[in-house]
Amino acid sequence: MSSPRNSKQFTEPWYTAYYFLQQDIDIRCPECDGHAISRGKSEYLLPWCPTGTRVVCTRCSYTRTCENFSWSGPVKGFGRRPCSACGHKWVNARVNCESTPQRPFNTVEAPCPECGAVNVVDISWSIDFFSGRPLDPYNGERLWYVDDVRGNEIWAYNTAHLTYLREYISSSLRERGDHAGKYSIITNLPAWMKSKKNRDDVIKTLDRLMKM
Ligand SMILES: [Zn+2]
Ligand SMILES: [Zn+2]
Repeated sequence: MSSPRNSKQFTEPWYTAYYFLQQDIDIRCPECDGHAISRGKSEYLLPWCPTGTRVVCTRCSYTRTCENFSWSGPVKGFGRRPCSACGHKWVNARVNCESTPQRPFNTVEAPCPECGAVNVVDISWSIDFFSGRPLDPYNGERLWYVDDVRGNEIWAYNTAHLTYLREYISSSLRERGDHAGKYSIITNLPAWMKSKKNRDDVIKTLDRLMKM
């Protein structure tokens, strides 16, 4: 039987991450591991081009301000070429690094999927802003609100984001809202978070994070 409490309807708009990224982001201070604030501006979510980024710790004196964009998070490289041995198109090369490589490189070796010959492929680098991991996309620092539910990471940019997630997870009626695009946060929530059997654990974890 569904009581009124069990049939709560989700009435918030289907925001993209951009909505929450226009507010302060709560992060771990890279210096003391305490609670710090990350800020910046980007005109759009796509393309994501942050300017005026700033980290301020609420515990130690750490401050970092960059007019020119600086990034300490993950980067990815991609390149492709026709195989030098058999001409097969394409030999693709992908590299993922947790941070900018200490010794920069612009080529990697990759085997041809057709003939197996090793090719030297030129790659170009880009910043991995939205890796699906708990990182702040302005400065690449680790988020403050991170916890674990049965081996799965749950995270939020700030308390507004936590509250939004809790609102969705605790609703039993989850009709697709207006502007429910492919970039909306809810469209991109992992299945384990949406699943009924994890609901109580996810809500408990979100409540715990909100008290941090
Ligand atoms: Zn600090
Ligand atoms: Zn080949």
